[in-house]
Amino acid sequence: MTLEDLKTLIREVQDFPKEGINFKDITTAIKDPNAFQYIVDQLYLKYKDKGITKVAGIESRGFIVGAALAYKLGAGFVLIRKQGKLPAETIKKTYSLEYGEDIIEVHKDAFNENDVVLLHDDLLATGGTAKAAIDLVREFPVKDLLVNFIIELSFLKGKESIASEQNIDVDSLI
Ligand code: AMP
Repeated sequence: MTLEDLKTLIREVQDFPKEGINFKDITTAIKDPNAFQYIVDQLYLKYKDKGITKVAGIESRGFIVGAALAYKLGAGFVLIRKQGKLPAETIKKTYSLEYGEDIIEVHKDAFNENDVVLLHDDLLATGGTAKAAIDLVREFPVKDLLVNFIIELSFLKGKESIASEQNIDVDSLI
C-alpha cells in the first residue's frame, strides 16, 4: 500500500450531501484491510514520539481511525460529539455552518493538565468544525494539542484558518 494506492481507494461522491459538494467517502478505504492498516500505521509513525496521552475523535468518522490510532499509541480515546449524545456533564461549543449553527460537546472530565492531546477527524474542509473542537480542548489546561486529518481539502484553506491564529501543529495524510 502506498499513499497513491490509498488515494484511489477513497470514493468521490458528487453532490452529496447537497449540490456542489464533492464528498470524499473513506468507507471504501477503511473496508480494505491493507488501506485501513496503512492509514493507522502512517499516523502512528508520525505521532509515536510526541508523548500523546489522548486522541480526541470528532463525531462520527473521527472515531474510526482515531480509536485505532489511540490503541496503537497506547493513548486514551475521547469522544467529541454532537449535542445531546454524551450522558454526563459536558462543555459545549457553538459554531456556525453555512446555514445556521451546530453544537459539539465533550465530557467535563475528559482531559487534565498532564494530557498531550491529538485531535483527529477524517477530513478538514473549511476548518469550522476543527476550530470549534480546538476551542473545546483549549478550555482544559492540557499540556499540548496537535491536530490531524486523513484528508485536507487544501483549496478551502482550513489549515490557515485554524493553525495560523493558534500556532498549532496541524497535519494531514492526503
Ligand atoms: P469543515 O467544518 O468545513 O472543515 O467540515 C469538516 C467536517 O465536515 C468533517 O467532519 C468532515 O467529515 C465533513 N466534510 C466536509 N466536507 C466534506 C467532504 N467534501 N467530504 C467528506 N466529508 C466532508
